[in-house]
Amino acid sequence: MSNIEQILEAAGIELIYDEKEAPKHISLLNENIVSMCIKEAVTNVVKHSDATICKITIHQKSKEAIITVEDDGTFKGDYPHSQTKGHGLLGIRERLEFANGRLRIETKDGTKLIMSIPNDSAAKDKEGMK
Ligand code: ATP
Ligand code: MG
Repeated sequence: MSNIEQILEAAGIELIYDEKEAPKHISLLNENIVSMCIKEAVTNVVKHSDATICKITIHQKSKEAIITVEDDGTFKGDYPHSQTKGHGLLGIRERLEFANGRLRIETKDGTKLIMSIPNDSAAKDKEGMK
């Protein structure tokens, strides 16, 4: 999480994140997927949002983790009307769906990415190993 803070700090955007929220039950594979998704989301905040604050929350539920990345800027794309030009949001969605998770985007006040991912995709992984 520290390099994410640095990326935001360099852009003059304040990070709000509670370290205590770090998920404890998520598999290593899914943890890696989540960090890639957070990094991509934060890159978008820096590149596009004109925000002053970026808030990241992680909620560990019994079977899945819910991760949100939101900013107080303005969404610049035309989501959900057409698929966006870039690959970032598409990449996040594809990675999450690969792990049986999903991505939702709210663009009312700033941009909010709501990502859910199961604690582990063991069922799918084992399936693939048979
Ligand atoms: P790439 O990620 O491939 O470098 P990109 O960032 O333009 O390119 P996406 O990450 O898919 O592509 O984002 C699509 C578009 O959605 C962006 O071009 C931008 O207009 C808008 N967007 C995405 N995130 C934000 C955000 N946090 N604030 C404002 N606009 C955003
Ligand atoms: Mg992007």
